[in-house]
Amino acid sequence: MANDSNRFQAIISHAKEYGFVFPSSEIYDGLQAVYDYGQWGSELKKNIKDYWWDSMTRMYENIVGIDAAIFMHPTTWKASGHIDNFNDPMIDNKDSKKRYRVDHLIETWAEDKAFSFKTKKVYPEHLKDVQGFMDERIDIPNPTEGNQPSDDAQKAKSVLEEMDKLLAKDDFVGLKKLIEENDIRCPISETCNWTDIRQFNLMFSTEFGSTVSSEDEDNKVYLRPETAQGIFVNFLNVQKTGRMKIPFGIAQIGKAFRNEIVARQFIFRMREFEQMEMQFFIPPGTQKKWYEFWKEERMKWHLGLGIPKENYRFHNHVKLAHYADAACDIEFNFPIGFKEVEGIHSRTDFDLKNHQEYSKKKMQYFDNDIDPATGKPYGNYIPYVIETSIGLDRMFLLVMSHAYEEQDLSTAEKQDSRVVLKLPNKLAPVKLAVLPLVKKDGLPEIARKIMDDCKSSFRCFYEEKDTIGKRYRRMDAIGTPFCVTVDQQTKEDNTVTIRYRDTMQQDRIPLSQIKEIVSKVIL
Ligand code: ATP
Repeated sequence: MANDSNRFQAIISHAKEYGFVFPSSEIYDGLQAVYDYGQWGSELKKNIKDYWWDSMTRMYENIVGIDAAIFMHPTTWKASGHIDNFNDPMIDNKDSKKRYRVDHLIETWAEDKAFSFKTKKVYPEHLKDVQGFMDERIDIPNPTEGNQPSDDAQKAKSVLEEMDKLLAKDDFVGLKKLIEENDIRCPISETCNWTDIRQFNLMFSTEFGSTVSSEDEDNKVYLRPETAQGIFVNFLNVQKTGRMKIPFGIAQIGKAFRNEIVARQFIFRMREFEQMEMQFFIPPGTQKKWYEFWKEERMKWHLGLGIPKENYRFHNHVKLAHYADAACDIEFNFPIGFKEVEGIHSRTDFDLKNHQEYSKKKMQYFDNDIDPATGKPYGNYIPYVIETSIGLDRMFLLVMSHAYEEQDLSTAEKQDSRVVLKLPNKLAPVKLAVLPLVKKDGLPEIARKIMDDCKSSFRCFYEEKDTIGKRYRRMDAIGTPFCVTVDQQTKEDNTVTIRYRDTMQQDRIPLSQIKEIVSKVIL
């Protein structure tokens, strides 16, 4: 079952127990929706960053990277529309005092409806239409056999369609009616006692200087809610100094901050998180072509990790953000269901045009290329933009969720099990564990030599404590693809045992081949 909260809980516990993710300032009971990455988590995160950064800035010759500051001139956020538009419609339950994002509340209710119907088993023929929709919108595995009609799923479908229409019109009265008419209840109080729906701005603010009061709007600065604006305000700097020719892209990895109201689900939704964004500048009128291009390229990037494609799907936006003329999400089948991991947005010339207007600086580009529509050179224009925006923390959760496996290894003689993280080799925090079988007889010295030989090429880990079985299990739990064990035979013939994480198979190989074997599969 896809919506498997036990599995999700197990992943969260595992992430903490093995040094991947800790609640922030845990000794003070943590801070809601803020997390710290531990010794292995920060390695995994860095490897994901490198995989993205290298593919963007090396594999595409026309993309360069930047690293802009988190604080930006406050007018940036006026121009980008975030001060006026970065709002989510919220509703409070008067009994539990909990606040919900309206679309999340309705979607969760619809998913529950779909799941309850799923257990009833339905004929695929009856479901054809609904299933097509569900594949787009709600996670629902292929129904098998049975004889129940799919009333609940039909209902979920129509309510979601209605929600999309009402959201697109900002019709809050209609949305509240939709919630009440369908008896959508607060998951905590289980009542339908709702306030009116209101907009809530998600930006954090603080002040510059030492003597200002918090009401002083002039000194108010925001913690950026997206990294994209740092790219837009540097468009001309990069274009000119890098002598970049359109089409070209600017990539950036950095922190973003949002005062999320429904801040739950571990690192899926955080108040401080990291984004990996790329803005691709193109001539006006070519946005459809480039939007499709980047949808395909980004999906290829995901599939390049070896995660099967049935775990991914596109979800097209019905309600477009204020800056977009087309948008979709790449969704992944998380243990909490299919959810967004990356957004691909056709942002038009909205951002550059507004920055030109607010800053009074020209954001134009002179293009000698021929416009196929007119047969003449494009001349001067404000470029259009296709954005690819992926959450680093969500990507981390995606990788962990897919890799986490509990295996029962029991035999007739004894009970046994293991937890293994089948991480893609190139992302694994540690590539090779070097383990002397015993702590004597010169074995640690040989193991140390292997460490010295390999550690400048990839991340290695040395351990001599505990039985070899326990050490293997610990390496499985952090996703180390290879362990080599140095034993008495090593002294005689210079061979070691190499153990493969996924199969647990063990082979005898010459010591001199270790580096080559590992290097080959971690690229
Ligand atoms: P959602 O609908 O889940 O709030 P969004 O559509 O607002 O996300 P975008 O503004 O498109 O998200 O941001 C791009 C990416 O940044 C998302 O696909 C997601 O991976 C990541 N992201 C956005 N908000 C958060 C958050 N609060 N915590 C972690 N990652 C986030």
